[in-house]
Amino acid sequence: MSDLNHDVAQILIGADELQSRISELGQQITRDYAGKEPLLVGVLKGAVMFMVDLSRQIDLAVEIDFMAVSSYGSSTQSLGVVRILKDLDRAIDGRDVLVVEDIVDTGLTLRYIVDNLRDRCPASIRICALLQKQKARATSPTIDYLGFEIPDQFVVGYGLDYAERYRNLPYVGVLRPEVYQTSQVEK
Ligand code: 5GP
Repeated sequence: MSDLNHDVAQILIGADELQSRISELGQQITRDYAGKEPLLVGVLKGAVMFMVDLSRQIDLAVEIDFMAVSSYGSSTQSLGVVRILKDLDRAIDGRDVLVVEDIVDTGLTLRYIVDNLRDRCPASIRICALLQKQKARATSPTIDYLGFEIPDQFVVGYGLDYAERYRNLPYVGVLRPEVYQTSQVEK
C-alpha cells in the first residue's frame, strides 16, 4: 500500500471520518425504513466498499443486489452516455429500493439508473451517495442520503479508481498530477 499512498497528494476524507459518517447514514436509513425490508442496489465497482460498510450499519433485514454500468468519456470525465453491463439478479416490483452510489459528478449516470429502475415499478426508490461534487447540484437527481459534498476534483480511494487502481485505499484522496502524466506516457 505504501506505493499507492505515495501517489496521493492530499487526503480529503480520512478513514475514521468516512466510517463515522457511514454509521450516521446507517442509523438514519434504519429509522426511515423501520418495518420495511429495503433492497440496496449498489453500482459496481466503485460503490462496493461503501455498500459493505453501509449495509452493516443498517439494523434491518436488507437485501443486496448490484448493477454494473459503463459511462463513456475520458478516464476522469463522464459524458453521461450509459450502458448496463450487469443487470440486477431479481425483479424489483413492489420493493423499497435504495440505490447506493459512490460518487455523483454530473449526476447523469445516476439519472439514467434511477429512470431505468423506476420503469420496473418499485414501491419506492431513493438514492444514497457517499460523495457529491459541488457542481452536481444543478444536474443531479435529488440525493436522499449524502455522505459528503466535495470540491470539483477527481478523487480516488474507498472504492474509487484511477485506471482500476487505488480502490483499496481506506480514505478518499486526490492524486499527484505526475501520476496522470506518467500513466499517459505509459499508454
Ligand atoms: P457522473 O455521471 O455523475 O458524471 O459520473 C458518475 C460516475 O463517474 C461515478 O459513478 C464514477 O464511476 C465516475 N466518477 C465521477 N467522478 C469521479 C471521481 O472524482 N473519481 C473517480 N474515481 N470516479 C469518478
